[in-house]
Amino acid sequence: MSPLFMETNLQNKRHTLAHLLGAAVVAQYPHAKLTLGPAIDNGFYYDIDFSGGPALGDDGLKDIQKAMKKMINSWTEFTHREVSVEEARALYKDNQYKLELVNEICERGETITLYTCGNFTDLCRGGHCDNPKAEIDTDAFELEKVAGAYWRGDEKNPMLSRVYGLAFETKADLEAYQYQIEEAKKRDHRKLGKEMDLFTFSDMVGSGMPLFTPRGNIVRNAIINYSRELNEKLGFGEVHTPNINKAELFKCSGHYDQYKDDMLSVTSQYVNDEMFMKPMNCPQHTQIFDSRPRSYRDLPIRYSDFANLYRDERPGELSGLTRLRAFAQDDGHIFCRESQVQEELVAVLEIIKEALATYGISYWIRLSLRDPENKEKYLGTDADWEHSEAELEVVIKKSGVEYKAITGEAAFYGPKLDIMAVDALGRQWQISTIQVDRVQPERFDLTCINEKGEKERVVMIHRALIGSPDRFLGILIEHFGGNFPLWLAPEQVRIVPVLDTHNSYAETVYASLKTAGMRVVLDDANESMGKKIRAAKTEKLPYFIVIGDLEVADQTVTLEKRDGTKEVISIPTLMEKLAIEVQTKAL
Ligand SMILES: [Zn+2]
Ligand SMILES: [Zn+2]
Repeated sequence: MSPLFMETNLQNKRHTLAHLLGAAVVAQYPHAKLTLGPAIDNGFYYDIDFSGGPALGDDGLKDIQKAMKKMINSWTEFTHREVSVEEARALYKDNQYKLELVNEICERGETITLYTCGNFTDLCRGGHCDNPKAEIDTDAFELEKVAGAYWRGDEKNPMLSRVYGLAFETKADLEAYQYQIEEAKKRDHRKLGKEMDLFTFSDMVGSGMPLFTPRGNIVRNAIINYSRELNEKLGFGEVHTPNINKAELFKCSGHYDQYKDDMLSVTSQYVNDEMFMKPMNCPQHTQIFDSRPRSYRDLPIRYSDFANLYRDERPGELSGLTRLRAFAQDDGHIFCRESQVQEELVAVLEIIKEALATYGISYWIRLSLRDPENKEKYLGTDADWEHSEAELEVVIKKSGVEYKAITGEAAFYGPKLDIMAVDALGRQWQISTIQVDRVQPERFDLTCINEKGEKERVVMIHRALIGSPDRFLGILIEHFGGNFPLWLAPEQVRIVPVLDTHNSYAETVYASLKTAGMRVVLDDANESMGKKIRAAKTEKLPYFIVIGDLEVADQTVTLEKRDGTKEVISIPTLMEKLAIEVQTKAL
């Protein structure tokens, strides 16, 4: 069976289950008015108006589900017939929602069809199982919840009850999905970020503007410093740039026309300049490049930048660290000659692969192309676009990474390779990006002097390695479930002496680790051992060292790993083991 057919098949099952849900609800709640009931990507729902009598709540779902499982036994075949608009209107004279749908179908000049299965008939376009009883595994669906939803999503319309169901091919698929949802809740970075004391938000500071605690900032810095190491390998020079820029810069780059709605404006009490918090670093980097004449011998010139960026996101779209108004990027720009573009792109992509392997994150690549139907959304010539798009496709094919070309996802100045990370729970996040830009060099008139002593237009490559360290920290918390590998952990080792008499030896161990640069804490507070061990578990420490009589006598430590495994080792062995684990960034 082809994957496409399986997909359609599952969609048909989900759609069929929406009918079954409608049928079961109407049987128990005769006053209920059914409205729309589509298949969705984890099951199905039906929007229902219960305003004429008692409403179905979460506590009534079990009954409805039971009724559905019983009812399906008589659902062995769908039949359908076309009806006239008059007949349809008469049928739905008491249901203003279906009436509205009937009128719309009529206006579009389409035929009106009614589908029947068992004793239940519904207005529908089709797309069901042939034989629901035979095809649907009744253990593979479950009613999930009831939520409020406005008719057609418009808050001016009546509020309906949306009854959600989960549905998959098999019971195992359903359970795997439910496990993933439960696990995602446990790993929610907003919850773990609080428990592990990594970051916070304050209403007084503003939404979407995270405050990193000392512990959180250790992880954030570890991410940034690793990107710095990789930048070094690629030959980047780190620059430092201001957060506020004059509008003139963004007018020249094109952001003013294309991106102004997402930029925060700033005013000065002394000058009349229109100014903005910067949403990206690219225009500024053009000014560093252009600050002196460049010879072809100097190229490629590569700038990296970790400056904070600001985007005016709508408050409703902000969520923990994954969508922010203030964030940094491990950003960088390469200014090079036409003949150097391929080589630069390949080198950057290889480094991104290396970075993601270190974090243990799998990925695929989206080749984000211009939408040829909407050329007015983009700057630059057709020839440049075709050139850049072809260039990226060559690089991606060479790399051997799985990719999909998607139109309409390009930046306004050029096509992109967007790296889509797939985390431990199978969820996807767009992180890194590589973009070829022949528009900004034109607009800022960026050139080098070539071998013939002539001015030659350069090409600009935009790239990030892991994207935003702030957002990536949120992704990593969920990817690791808070169990950071040693090199990222805010506190790497905690030493716990059993009794006061063990303190002096514990201090020696502490001093050795501290001197070696480990992030180590000596917990000699007057608390019970049980409490200390529980705290270490909540804080998800990679290592825990207990020191008692035996350890003092033998000059050893008992090293306990997060997973509960223990070993008794000497101090030099301990030092070597931890150092190697940090250096190799072991997972
Ligand atoms: Zn249908
Ligand atoms: Zn850029």
